[in-house]
Amino acid sequence: MKITQKNYYSSEMNKQYMSVSQFKDFCKCEAMAMAKINGTYQQPKSRALLLGSLFDELLTGTEKSQSVFIEENKQELFKKNGEPYADVAQAYETVEKVKQQPLMMKYLSGQTQKIMTGEIAGVPFKIKIDSYKAGKFLCDLKYMASLRSPNLFDSMVKYWGYDIQGAVYQEIVYQNTNKRLPFFLCIATKETIPHLELCEIKQYDLDEALSNVEKKVQRFQALKNGEIEPERCEEYDCLYCTATRIITEAIDSNMLGMTRKIED
Ligand SMILES: [Zn+2]
Repeated sequence: MKITQKNYYSSEMNKQYMSVSQFKDFCKCEAMAMAKINGTYQQPKSRALLLGSLFDELLTGTEKSQSVFIEENKQELFKKNGEPYADVAQAYETVEKVKQQPLMMKYLSGQTQKIMTGEIAGVPFKIKIDSYKAGKFLCDLKYMASLRSPNLFDSMVKYWGYDIQGAVYQEIVYQNTNKRLPFFLCIATKETIPHLELCEIKQYDLDEALSNVEKKVQRFQALKNGEIEPERCEEYDCLYCTATRIITEAIDSNMLGMTRKIED
């Protein structure tokens, strides 16, 4: 089956190809990633995801895809009287602010939602690039809470795995075009006065991220092939493990609410 805009996120394509978000799911929790692929678990639709998709649509969508998106999500985006919810109105305002930034718009002016496929360490991958300018650059749009990293030890880019995204996109584009292109992020925050930023993930960070993907991806493919059993992460913030957990013993009260994982 050929991959298209219509079937890109379908369960067939998710089985046939690894994607950046699937790879990141496997890194977080193998059991959750497999349950998603097999259709036994659906990640709850979050407001953040919806606003991110709206932001992407408004800046890189076509008129047609925008109206389809708005129609499909009308109830979440607009009140009964037709007015947008406050966070939606703010997303629209921030889109206008991005449009007033010529350099950001330059990096968003490539072919939008460009799909390509390739292989990393023998594993088939699919990618969908927000903005692709042949021979020039790759750019992904981010609408996020803050520019600050939620974790003291990792940069914001590492924490969210944007280096992995850039590395995979760059490698798959290289396989298709023989050109290794720089990877940029166009970022806007959801703060009252939004921070806008354009940044490039440097080649040494992309190289490191790609070798990390190459190291891990064959195990993930073996899981998809059913050759090995997935491990549960049992982390407190894993909704899948929380929802499917069986309690097997009483714990020390001092451990209550601490991270659940016990190394064996
Ligand atoms: Zn888990």
